[in-house]
Amino acid sequence: MELIFDTVVIGGGVAGMSASIYLKRANKDFCILEKSALGGQLNNIDSIHNYPGFKEISGPDLAMNLYEQVNSMDIKVLPYEVLNITASGDNYVITTNKEQIFCNNIIIAIGRVPKRLSIKGEDTYVNKGISFCALCDGTFYKNKNVVVIGNNNQAANEALYLSNICLSVKLISRTKDLLTEESIKDQLADRDNIEVIYNSDVLEFLGDENRLNGLLVLDKDTKDSKNIIVDGAFVYIGQVPLTFAFKDLQILDDTGYVIVDSSMQTKLKNIYAVGDVVKKDIYQIITAASDGVTAAYNIIEKDK
Ligand SMILES: Cc1cc2nc3c(=O)[nH]c(=O)nc-3n(C[C@H](O)[C@H](O)[C@H](O)COP(=O)(O)OP(=O)(O)OC[C@H]3O[C@@H](n4cnc5c(N)ncnc54)[C@H](O)[C@@H]3O)c2cc1C
Repeated sequence: MELIFDTVVIGGGVAGMSASIYLKRANKDFCILEKSALGGQLNNIDSIHNYPGFKEISGPDLAMNLYEQVNSMDIKVLPYEVLNITASGDNYVITTNKEQIFCNNIIIAIGRVPKRLSIKGEDTYVNKGISFCALCDGTFYKNKNVVVIGNNNQAANEALYLSNICLSVKLISRTKDLLTEESIKDQLADRDNIEVIYNSDVLEFLGDENRLNGLLVLDKDTKDSKNIIVDGAFVYIGQVPLTFAFKDLQILDDTGYVIVDSSMQTKLKNIYAVGDVVKKDIYQIITAASDGVTAAYNIIEKDK
């Protein structure tokens, strides 16, 4: 079966949903393709303090608000995964895991996924003690000992979140200082059950093949490596775009991010990209929403 739309939004995170709200209000013929859950990364954030209009809101609550808005506007959301895009004359053909879709405009809004350490034991123990989402999996480690691996704001915030649930949290930073806001460092210092281990690299995840039970960690100051016994490890070393479906379009930089101009258009006519998948300086909810609106506005204006 073939589907035809004027515009297709690929990805239903905050960027894709923001674009969709504007497209719908302009009465455009479009759909969102979402391979997993609407809300994207929002679903993994414990607490948001920097989105205007909310002193504090949980990620899942913000995702639910957006979902309800999209739902109330009768925006068509199809549970499809996009596998490939090809040009067909002036239009594009989107190949999904279900059917092909023909359209004039595309907004790529597929976000990013957690970066992996790519060390020994990681593949064996993902979901068997290694997690990339404290909000999703933290509850399984109630009164247990965990590590958080990372040195950024996300890692520190997740360590704070886990310290409310777990017996102890070790935050392992590969740098001599944390790359976080000062207020977050103060909060970490105030928690009795958080220990920050600086200037150290995790070399290997250890376990009995069925379950993670430790880490091999190198202290870069002393050059000593030691085993740390843990029940769980949460990895927060950044994110990467998963853009292999768009490789043939030649719109990516050498790290896989999509390159766009100020109207969020790629070098290919009528293909836009928005949110975390784009090469840019600031990766936040508000910038993702803003990108989505910019792309939608340009599609609406050019078709007037
Ligand atoms: C732990 C954590 C904490 C954060 N805290 C904050 C914070 O406090 N404040 C803040 O402003 N920002 C924060 N961020 C960043 C913020 O979440 C992101 O910048 C924003 O959510 C990105 O939105 P997006 O729509 O671009 O991408 P995403 O949210 O990644 O959405 C992309 C969507 O596309 C879908 N998709 C992917 N590939 C395909 C495909 N091939 N076919 C169909 N669908 C596909 C995915 O399933 C996903 O739903 C945090 C991020 C994380 C991970």
